[in-house]
Amino acid sequence: MSAPGENRRVGQVKEVTSLANPIVKDIKALALKKFRDQQNAFMAEGLKLVIDALDLGWTIRTLVFSKSGLGNAAVEKAAARTVAAGGLVLEVNDKVLAAITRRENPQMVVGVFEQRWTPLADVRPAGDDVWVALDRVRDPGNLGTVIRTVDAVGAKGVILVGDTTDPFAVETVRATMGSIFAVPVARASEQAFLAWRKGFGGLVAGTHLKGSVDYRTVDYGKRPVVLLMGNEQQGLPETLAGACDRLVRIPQAGRADSLNLAVATGVMLYEVRRAALSLEATA
Ligand code: SAM
Repeated sequence: MSAPGENRRVGQVKEVTSLANPIVKDIKALALKKFRDQQNAFMAEGLKLVIDALDLGWTIRTLVFSKSGLGNAAVEKAAARTVAAGGLVLEVNDKVLAAITRRENPQMVVGVFEQRWTPLADVRPAGDDVWVALDRVRDPGNLGTVIRTVDAVGAKGVILVGDTTDPFAVETVRATMGSIFAVPVARASEQAFLAWRKGFGGLVAGTHLKGSVDYRTVDYGKRPVVLLMGNEQQGLPETLAGACDRLVRIPQAGRADSLNLAVATGVMLYEVRRAALSLEATA
């Protein structure tokens, strides 16, 4: 495996047809967290996502596009922007693109971007800001869906607490549907989160199956809110539950023990953000 950036040819366009090409190997390796961390990079599929990411100022390292994209004005513009930003553009065949994305019918365009983390110290919720803190989230689909929902409701960002799945995993990025580029993500050990929480003057609302408070009875307004959600299998540990101002529960009927984490987060976010959202504002 080559060192990060070693195989980059800055600001170049290159045609690649071989799976043995070292740049292609580096991009394929991004399927594994170890190499994502090593390269400090990740992959996003689809022209719209790549354009959104460029518009939002993310640093593109490599744009990979299928030969079928030749002559497509939007693809060529994205390629020109990549070169202008000092990135590399790879024109590949369908075999290479399928290998990179591990999909039989891959998107026409794939972008390799630098990872971006928000330092926890920079998370300073104010006004009616809402942040979601996820305790040890394991499932990439859940994390991606939460990031997408945070974006949709106009919440400010996500704090990953403890050992969690990687927001830059291919499955997570896919599930965010592009919101990975719009939603700041911070990470912290449980200890660091608890220390940060002591300096946070807003409301920390934890969700718990043992909570005796109906989530609809709490006044979330006029102050920043951190919504704390528990791990898929174990829920919130005592250490985190004990640090919440309120522990709320979403009522259920039927046989299900609990809601899916991403669904519960969505239900909560719509309640917490209820006053801020209206169809008129988005019309
Ligand atoms: N067996 C786990 C437990 O005992 O908590 C179930 C966890 S549940 C799948 C994942 C997370 O979603 C929970 O920790 C909680 O944050 C949230 N959640 C799911 N259903 C909920 C409900 N009815 N009320 C409040 N939170 C809920």
